[in-house]
Amino acid sequence: RRTAALAGSRGPGRTSDGHTVALLANIGGPQDAEEAGAQDLEGVGLFRTEFLFLSTDRAPTVAEQTDIYRRVFAPFGERRVVVRTLDAGADKPLAFADLGPEENPALGRRGIRLSAERPELLDAQLEALAVAARETGADVRVMAPMIATAEEAAWFARRVRENGLPKAGVMIEVPAAALRARHVLADVDFGSLGTNDLAQYTMAADRMQGELADLLDPWQPAVLDVIAAACEGASAAGRPMGVCGESGGDPLLALVLTGLGVSSLSMAPSKVPIVRLSLSLHTLADCQRLAGLARQARTAQDAHDAVHEAASTEL
Ligand code: PEP
Ligand code: MG
Repeated sequence: RRTAALAGSRGPGRTSDGHTVALLANIGGPQDAEEAGAQDLEGVGLFRTEFLFLSTDRAPTVAEQTDIYRRVFAPFGERRVVVRTLDAGADKPLAFADLGPEENPALGRRGIRLSAERPELLDAQLEALAVAARETGADVRVMAPMIATAEEAAWFARRVRENGLPKAGVMIEVPAAALRARHVLADVDFGSLGTNDLAQYTMAADRMQGELADLLDPWQPAVLDVIAAACEGASAAGRPMGVCGESGGDPLLALVLTGLGVSSLSMAPSKVPIVRLSLSLHTLADCQRLAGLARQARTAQDAHDAVHEAASTEL
């Protein structure tokens, strides 16, 4: 029955009462773009651009980058493509953007912090993205990784607009930014929760340390509380908040996230059909009730079990 329901699930993400939640893909380059672009999904919620350059020793030129971005955008036509600017450092080191050894790379000069020290890298990337966006007509939106403060968000938004790109956003993956989302989002157009890093920094558990998987579980009630705070801040600022961490591809957690107020979910493209089905079996009020159950739980396991029990048995 579930297989038949999955096969029959099509179109934009929406709850059974018509509340829309955009279903988007996480991609890392042109090959992923071609595959995801051919699927029934609403665009890209996270294009991890640093993946393109993991084995490059010199900084890519504007022309080289433009060529790649064109190939990434083309398969999506007029659909949205949310591009993350280079998230170099920590788990994703780039040879040409190396600022030297650090004691704690996950807490070091990574993401937007590295862009602030090497603004020429950011500007070259934004210039290439703007050219590729104009040429392909894709709905390109650019967001920064590892934003912690409102000043960083405003600095990034200014640079994005100076390069002629219309929409700037920030990843919300540092608890400080989640707790202050209302102010952090004031000068940008949208936020996107990176639940992988948000769990790492909320739980003080290194995401590279496999033994800590239980602490890194996005069902941890503390992580859900931080996500809820971020959604409240976004709503107060009048900005949409999405999710682009792996948690968006969990069909039960997707309900909780929807109940907390997120308006888009980005995931591995293979997860889109099951998440679409999950949403279609619940109303927005169901999602809100499930979010309440998860947040009332004492442990991650209890949160998961409570939602599993209360959600549609068809899942
Ligand atoms: C995240 O941190 O959740 C995220 C989406 O980005 P990455 O996994 O690439 O750090
Ligand atoms: Mg991250």
